[in-house]
Amino acid sequence: MFNTLNEKLTAVFKGMRKQIRISEENIQDALKQVRIALLEADVNFKVVKRFIENVREKALGEAVLKSLTPDQVFIKIVHDELVNVLGGDDAAAKINLNSKPPTIIMMAGLQGAGKTTTSGKLARFFMKSGKSVLLVAADVYRPAAIDQLEILGRQIKADVYTDRSTKDVVKIASDALAYAKKTAKDLMIIDTAGRLHIDETLMDELVRTKDAVNPDEILFVADAMTGQDAVTVAKTFNDKLNATGIILTKMDGDARGGAALSIKEVTGKPLKFIAIGEKLEDFEQFYPDRMASRILG
Ligand code: GDP
Repeated sequence: MFNTLNEKLTAVFKGMRKQIRISEENIQDALKQVRIALLEADVNFKVVKRFIENVREKALGEAVLKSLTPDQVFIKIVHDELVNVLGGDDAAAKINLNSKPPTIIMMAGLQGAGKTTTSGKLARFFMKSGKSVLLVAADVYRPAAIDQLEILGRQIKADVYTDRSTKDVVKIASDALAYAKKTAKDLMIIDTAGRLHIDETLMDELVRTKDAVNPDEILFVADAMTGQDAVTVAKTFNDKLNATGIILTKMDGDARGGAALSIKEVTGKPLKFIAIGEKLEDFEQFYPDRMASRILG
C-alpha cells in the first residue's frame, strides 16, 4: 500500500523514468493524487483548484535532470509551490513591535477558536524574552473569559486589565491603553469577544475597538479543525479588520493543516504562530516548510 503522497506520486511516475520532460499526460494522474491529498487535508476546494493549476503550469515541460527522476522533480515542484503559498522559505513571520511601547496586539476570531488561551500563550512567549505584558479582558459577553484570562495572567505572572462594571469594550481598550502606558508595559494584548457565527454587531464592535487604540497587530485566531468554513470566516474578518497575521490553533488534533493554506491564500496575510495544545507552552512559531510536509502527508 502507498500511504504518503510521496509514495503515491512515485508509483504514478513509475515506468516513465526514461522521460526527459514532464508532459500533460504523465502529470494528469500525479495532479489527481495531489488534489486528493489536499482535499483530504481539508484545503478549501477552490484553493485546491488554483493550487493545482499553478503546479500544472510549473511542472509542464519541466526538464528532468539526469540526476533526478520525474517523480522527484514533480514532488519538489509541489512541495516548493506549497511552501511558497504558505509564506516562503523565511522563518516565521515576526510580530511587528512598535518602537514606542506599548505594542498593541488585538486578537480576533470566532468564539471557541482559542483567543483567550492564545492571548496567554502569546504573553508568555514575549515574557520569556523579558518583555512586560498587559493582558486586556475585552471579551465582555462571556464572563468566564474574564476569569479565564485572570487565571492565565496569574499563571504567567502577567498583569491583567479587567473592568466588570461596563460592557463598553471601546472604553475598556482605551482605559487599558492608558494603564499600559502608566505602568510602562512593552506590550498589551487585547482578548476580544467572539460569536459562534460572524455577526454585524460583533464586527462593528471590533472595528470600533481597532479605531480607538490603533493596534500594531491584529491577529486572526483560527481553529485548524474548521475545514472548508475557514475561508469564509477568515475572509470576513480580514475584510473588516485588515488583519496583520494569522494564528492557527488546535494543530495538535487530527487536522492536517489544510486551513493554513486556505486562510493564507484568501487573506494573503502571514501565518505567524500555531497552537498545539491547551497548555501555555503548546505554542510555536509558524514554519511554512513544516506545514507543507504536514499537509502533503
Ligand atoms: P475563545 O472563545 O476564542 O477565547 O477560545 P478559548 O481560548 O476559550 O479556547 C476554547 C477551547 O479550546 C478551550 O477549551 C481551550 O482549552 C481549547 N484550545 C485552545 N487552543 C487549543 C489548542 O491549540 N489545542 C487544543 N487541543 N485545544 C485548544
